[in-house]
Amino acid sequence: MKSRKVGIMGGTFDPIHLGHLVIANEVLNIFKLDEIIFIPSGNPPHKNGTKASSQDRYLMATLATLSNNKFTVSDIEIKNPEKSYTLNTIAELINIYTDTEFYFITGADAIINLPNWREPEKLLKLCKFIAVSRPGISKEIVEENIAAIEKNFNGNIELLQAPMLQISSTDIRNRFKNGKSAKYLLPESVEQYIIKNNLYLENNNEL
Ligand code: NAP
Repeated sequence: MKSRKVGIMGGTFDPIHLGHLVIANEVLNIFKLDEIIFIPSGNPPHKNGTKASSQDRYLMATLATLSNNKFTVSDIEIKNPEKSYTLNTIAELINIYTDTEFYFITGADAIINLPNWREPEKLLKLCKFIAVSRPGISKEIVEENIAAIEKNFNGNIELLQAPMLQISSTDIRNRFKNGKSAKYLLPESVEQYIIKNNLYLENNNEL
């Protein structure tokens, strides 16, 4: 049995918001973890890019987590110019943090695509997965997909319903674009960082 249990919050965090922080805290309590490491994704293999730069997303995550001594932020993905595969990230962390059991936490909609990630079977052996589902995503469809992944790749994925994920990064970006307040959806320090650095001001709305 490993002596430490660490959660990895993987996502673009474009920007980080209170939904992410509440989920991290819930997972910390439910799974009795020692620490949660937020890892803003660097150069995701399946995406054309993010709206805010890697450095801005990293700094916003750092500001958001400052007041919690069980939350840290890692630049392991953003400092790497290559495509960031979760398999490589977890393997690197296992080398750094010996005697640690890892829990990878991210959105259920991302985890449903796990069969298309790099070496899913190997990845599922390296860490436990926690799929966080937001309101509006069909529970039955998520459960069906997760059951199929567990069966095909011989892994274990916990499903967590998170009402706080009604808050979404896309909605927050649209608010800044449209000059609408995003107050109380994200930490004040992150809101101020976005305003000061003129982030998310392009014209067209995203879906
Ligand atoms: P994303 O676009 O940021 O998030 C996908 C969905 O999950 C969004 O609905 C998002 O809500 C939510 N979400 C994001 N991070 C979350 C978290 N930690 N807890 C709960 N919900 C979260 O992220 P993504 O690009 O799909 O990637 C998610 C993670 O999977 C990243 O770490 C990425 O590197 C990894 N990934 C790896 C591979 C691979 O290895 N081949 C492929 C795909 C994804 P908000 O928009 O409100 O944040």
